[in-house]
Amino acid sequence: MPAHWEGKPACAACQSTRVWPVRKGRWFECADCRHQTSLTSGTPLHKTTKPLKMWFRAVFEISSRRNGISAKDLQRILGLGSYETAWTWLHKLRAALVRPNREPLAENVQIDEAFVGDKSGKQLVLVATETDGRVRMSHADNNDAKTVERFAAAEIATDASVTTDGHKGYSAKSLGKRAHEAIVQTKAERAEADALQATHWTISLLKRWLLGTHASAVRPKHLQAYLDEYAFRHNRRGTQGVGRIASRTIEQLVRLPPRTMRDIVDDTHWYRRLRPLQNGALA
Ligand SMILES: [Zn+2]
Repeated sequence: MPAHWEGKPACAACQSTRVWPVRKGRWFECADCRHQTSLTSGTPLHKTTKPLKMWFRAVFEISSRRNGISAKDLQRILGLGSYETAWTWLHKLRAALVRPNREPLAENVQIDEAFVGDKSGKQLVLVATETDGRVRMSHADNNDAKTVERFAAAEIATDASVTTDGHKGYSAKSLGKRAHEAIVQTKAERAEADALQATHWTISLLKRWLLGTHASAVRPKHLQAYLDEYAFRHNRRGTQGVGRIASRTIEQLVRLPPRTMRDIVDDTHWYRRLRPLQNGALA
């Protein structure tokens, strides 16, 4: 049920709440103006022709599988007619995996950057991890002080202690009052005791996931959505209760605005609103 209804269905034409369910409960008819409003109106499921049960199954698949699910596998499991439909569904669901007003990372946080992608172009990703804890990742243009500052402001508590390597983008200018230790290690020292082990581990698992489940077929303009999906799974790896995670995802899904396949294919702005760390156009 769309969030703007606040639990009470309303007519999309005249906002009257004097409505009753028709057509097996998927629609409501208005007692005042006779307009019929879909249960999915104003949500990303707007105008879906598929049973809601199939959407719930898709949410379950993306929430519960250890490695998520590819569009190809979702298409097969749900018996969807086209790959594009499965791909679009997964993108709608990915947008619902990011909880609004998330708590920033706290205590001991490591930051590093990774390059992901194939030969058509490596993309820079800023990665922050709590030691043994949660992770946040942002697709970014670069890792200069200005960009790191925006990343830290969005993702890292102001009283956290931050560990980085010696890159000059990590400084009092970008990290503000957070305690900061820049550790420069040789290869041999890193092999002995890696100061950024949690982050390096996260980065290698991320790369393996992009390569495995998604066969590296991620366009730069969609990368942030995949990073969010990866972080979602990583941050819930110890959580019991797949059902609870799935139902939270559904709640967040119906709070989002409708997006068509075209919107998703064309529009990178939607993600930039969340994570405005990229400035140039993305392919
Ligand atoms: Zn009405």
